[in-house]
Amino acid sequence: MEKTYIMLKPDAVRRNLVGNIISRIENKGYKISKMKMFNLNEEVLKEHYAHLIDKPFFPELTSFMTSGPVVGMIVEGDGVILGMRNLMGPTKCEEAMPGTIRGDYAYSTTENLIHGSDSKETAEEELKRFETFLD
Ligand code: UDP
Ligand code: MG
Repeated sequence: MEKTYIMLKPDAVRRNLVGNIISRIENKGYKISKMKMFNLNEEVLKEHYAHLIDKPFFPELTSFMTSGPVVGMIVEGDGVILGMRNLMGPTKCEEAMPGTIRGDYAYSTTENLIHGSDSKETAEEELKRFETFLD
């Protein structure tokens, strides 16, 4: 069964949206096979967001992602990598359609509630990267 790495960001925890988002994932029919709340550090963020290190918003993104606990999970299902990306909605909050998690709740592009792997390759990398955090 296909697997993806999903992470509810600190704003989801602060805004008490964890239950709501988990319900959406379960309602879709996906299986959450592992889940844990933990804090990120700068080292893992530099790896996780390596494609964004040179962007002007990287310092703000790092301070946001370390501002409180996240909820990391492994989610399984047929086509779950793309399916979860569609359930999340696109990165930019103003482009995310109502009915998606970001479309319904995110009013900021940085604080956009949820991370999901964007391809088979990144899912494999991210599941490995966060394995110890999830234990
Ligand atoms: N991000 C941001 N400003 C931008 C683009 C991205 O703050 O202009 C943040 C946002 O939190 C996003 C994360 O960086 O979710 C990772 O960016 P990516 O392009 O990988 O988007 P995602 O895969 O999360 O949709
Ligand atoms: Mg991404």
